[in-house]
Amino acid sequence: MKTFASLITTAAALLALSAPAKAAPDLELWRLDCGTVQVKDMSIFSDTFAYAGEHGTLTDSCYVIRHDSDYLLWDTGLPAALVGQKPDLSQPLAVALDADIPSQLAKIGIKPEQIATIGISHNHFDHLGQAATFPRAKLMIGAADWETFKKKPLPFGVDATLVKHWLDGKGKVDPVSGDRDVFGDGSVMMLAMPGHTEGETALLVKLLQKGPILLSGDVVHFEKQIDNRGVPGFNADRAETLASMERLTKIADGLKATLVIQHDPSHVSRLPAFPASAK
Ligand SMILES: [Zn+2]
Repeated sequence: MKTFASLITTAAALLALSAPAKAAPDLELWRLDCGTVQVKDMSIFSDTFAYAGEHGTLTDSCYVIRHDSDYLLWDTGLPAALVGQKPDLSQPLAVALDADIPSQLAKIGIKPEQIATIGISHNHFDHLGQAATFPRAKLMIGAADWETFKKKPLPFGVDATLVKHWLDGKGKVDPVSGDRDVFGDGSVMMLAMPGHTEGETALLVKLLQKGPILLSGDVVHFEKQIDNRGVPGFNADRAETLASMERLTKIADGLKATLVIQHDPSHVSRLPAFPASAK
């Protein structure tokens, strides 16, 4: 015979089953301009000597995602100290930045302290340049990339001083292993795509009207790398890079998602021009 307690439990379970589904979160996404990178010789983006002798311009982009009243900043671009400086074209990578993130946030009515989380695709300097502008934010980054900050010497592209605040234990860190459902409702997911770095991730944002958006991180830097499988010679792992490239494109195809390659200037138009947002 069922006890009273077990009857109550059964009734509660039945009620939960018949309860209306939780309303979908209100999602909104903005693309911010987080710099440009002029590349003297694009062959650094292929270990099979593709793109040799080609010049190129890459964008650096950041994204604000509003999930109801929570804000996630995806990547933090180039350092704000570059604003007002001319790019040094003698360098292999000549970087420039027109406006810092807070001045762009101000245009859409968001204060830096409203950004509760910064999600970082990977540990390179061009994705962490303005992280320190958000000291109250929880830092989410691939666990392997977080561990890399503690290595000596640091690998190419990694500048641990950009996350000193979190390395010193002054800010919250959430190292992400595997895939992660950021808000717990499946609407925004960090997806493990190792290869460029050991802890590289992409971000899937399931917008209601525009449909899913897949932000590439640096799984690839530009469209042509997908077509001719261009793997930068400085990547952490060649085989993993190719596997992650396949995962990225398969997800985009399968979900009919808009793939936004974060460094590809030809992909800027895939999202509304700032300050307009995608919903
Ligand atoms: Zn990058």
